[in-house]
Amino acid sequence: MREDVNEKCAVVGIFNHEEASKLAYFSLHAMQHRGQEAAGISSGNGKRLYTIKDRGLVKKVFSERKLETLHGHMAIGHTRYSTAGDDSILDAQPVHANYDLGQLSIVHNGNLTNAKEVRDALIDKGAIFQSSMDTENLIHLIAKSDQRKLKDRIIDAVKKIEGAYSLIFLSRTKMFAMRDRFGFRPLSLGRVGEGYIVASETCAFDLVGAEYIREVEPGELLIFEKDKGLQSIKVYEPTPKHCIFEYVYFARPDSEIFGQNVYAKRKNMGVELAREQPVDADMIIPVPDGGVPAAIGYAQESGIAYEMGIMRNHYIGRTFIEPTQEMRDLKVKMKLSPITELIKGKRLVVIDDSIVRGTTSRRIIRMLKEAGAAEVHMRISSPPTSDPCFYGVDTPNKDKLIAANMSVEEICKYIEADSLAFLSSDALMRSVNSKGSEYCTACFTGEYII
Ligand code: AMP
Repeated sequence: MREDVNEKCAVVGIFNHEEASKLAYFSLHAMQHRGQEAAGISSGNGKRLYTIKDRGLVKKVFSERKLETLHGHMAIGHTRYSTAGDDSILDAQPVHANYDLGQLSIVHNGNLTNAKEVRDALIDKGAIFQSSMDTENLIHLIAKSDQRKLKDRIIDAVKKIEGAYSLIFLSRTKMFAMRDRFGFRPLSLGRVGEGYIVASETCAFDLVGAEYIREVEPGELLIFEKDKGLQSIKVYEPTPKHCIFEYVYFARPDSEIFGQNVYAKRKNMGVELAREQPVDADMIIPVPDGGVPAAIGYAQESGIAYEMGIMRNHYIGRTFIEPTQEMRDLKVKMKLSPITELIKGKRLVVIDDSIVRGTTSRRIIRMLKEAGAAEVHMRISSPPTSDPCFYGVDTPNKDKLIAANMSVEEICKYIEADSLAFLSSDALMRSVNSKGSEYCTACFTGEYII
C-alpha cells in the first residue's frame, strides 16, 4: 500500500442520540482507512458546539475523558489524509467558526475544483483564511450569503462551488448533509436508535448498530431538526458519476457504497480478470490487503490454488528510522514479507488492485524472486491508472503515473515480471453491474466530468 497518495477523508454525522460523540468516534474508527493524518469531532447540545481535533489516528486524538467533554445529542466527525508538508493542525477538520447566525462546524470529503478561484475572490473582498483547506471557502460563502436561514445559505454556498463534496454541517440546533450532484464520493443514511447517522461508508453503521436506509442522493440536501424529523431538498437533479476507484481500492470490503457491497464487486473483478487474462500457474497470491478479494475471485474462476504467499505487518505505521538506500529491501520487507517455504520453485500469479507509480509491484516481484519464485505473473484488477484524479483522490501528477508514460510491455519490464496484464474497462464495468454511464472513470480514461 502506498503512503504518499490517498483518498482525502471520511465524514460522519450523528443526530438525536444521547451518545452522539461516542458514536461519531466509533464510526471514525471504522473509517480510519480513509485518512490517518488527523481526526476531529464537533458536537452540539442545542445550546452550543464543542470541538476537539488533532493530528494522528482517531484512537490517539480522543480519550474517554475527552469524549465526555463533547456534550450533546448531535455530532459530526472527520478523518483526514493530507499530502506531505500540509499536515498542520489548522488543516484538521471539523472546520469551525462563529458568524452572524451563531456557531457552525463543517466536515468535507472530496475536492473542490474551483476552490482557488473562489478563495481568491473571497480574499479580494477581505476574507481572511486560517487554513489551506477547500472547506474553509464554505464557511466564508455561508457567512457572506444574504439569505436569512442557514438552509438557504448552504444552498447559496454550494451553488458557488464545483467538484466533489460529501458535506456535513452542524449548527447549534440542526445538522445538514449535502452531496454533490455527481455523487462522486459515497455518503449513506441510516437509523441509529431514535436518531440518524450519515457516513461515508456503511462499515461505520455496522460498528455502531445502525440500520442502512439509503444513500444520500446526489444533489440532495438533508436537514435534521429535532421534532421536525428528516427533510430533504433536491438542490440539483442527480447526474451520478460515482468514483469507480472506491470499488477498486478505497472503500472497505464490508461497506455498501453506491448501493452495492464492495467485497462482491472486487471479487467480480478477479473473476473477470481470470477470464480475460488466464495464466498457467501453480498458485494465486494476493498483495495484501487490497488484492485479496480479487485474488479469491481469480482463484475460484481459474481453479488454481489460492494461498497467502505474502504476509503483511499491520503494525508498521510510520517508522522513525528510515532505512537507507542500501537498506531499501528492508523497507518493503518491513511491511510485506514472503512465505519462502510456500512459494519456492512455484509459478505465481500475483494479484493487486492497481499500479500507480509501479514501485510497489517492482519491490514485491524482486522480493518474491529472491525468495525463490520460479515465475511471477502480475495481474491487476483494474485498468492502467493513466490520469490523475481531481475529485478527491490524491493521486500523483501525470509524470509520476507509470501507465501515463509507459506501455504495458514497458511496465512489465520495469517491474521485472514474467508477464503483466490489467483488467479491461469493459470488464471493470461488468464487475460493478454498470448500467452505462453512472461512474467516473477519469483515472483510467482521462475523461473528466468537470
Ligand atoms: P505504486 O504502483 O507503487 O504507486 O502503488 C500501488 C499500490 O498502492 C497498490 O498496491 C494499491 O493497492 C495502492 N494504492 C493505489 N492507489 C492508492 C492511493 N490513492 N492511496 C494509497 N494506496 C494506493
